[in-house]
Amino acid sequence: MALLEMATYGDPVLRKKAEEVKKIDKEILEIIENMKETLMNQSGVGLAAPQVGISKRIFIVDLPQEKGTRRLILLNPKIIFYSKDKIVAEEGCLSFPGVWGNVERSNRVRVKGTLLSGKSTVIEGEGMFARVLQHEIDHLDGKLFIDYFSPEDKEKNKEKLEEILNKNREKFGKVEL
Ligand SMILES: [Zn+2]
Repeated sequence: MALLEMATYGDPVLRKKAEEVKKIDKEILEIIENMKETLMNQSGVGLAAPQVGISKRIFIVDLPQEKGTRRLILLNPKIIFYSKDKIVAEEGCLSFPGVWGNVERSNRVRVKGTLLSGKSTVIEGEGMFARVLQHEIDHLDGKLFIDYFSPEDKEKNKEKLEEILNKNREKFGKVEL
């Protein structure tokens, strides 16, 4: 197993639409093992493959601190139901160290996807779990939580965002906002 390097804001991989996983082979299993280790190391609650530079439709969730929620690894997820009731809450993201802002999301979602066993499944999520599901699945479509920020939250995080972008400007020569 290996710790993977986090892709941070400005890295073009975060804006790409990730590819479907067609076959659960050794390569995919290894990616997932490494993602699990990386998430534990970062003490986050969710990680999507693009966040570690891998443009594939995979995410993992680990919410052990909240009663009733769970650990989940899902491939090719698709949200098939969004509740009309929405909740605004503060979010962070491992690809945006030090950045926090309010995001409005559905309180409940239903997600269809494939388990590691290859079986198709439907997962229901509520509250924090539903929020993490929506955040991670957004990553697979190149959508980022800052896209939902209010002008105030954008302003509040301006310096932090610029700091992250500057590091990636050095690394990539250019950044993708
Ligand atoms: Zn994120």
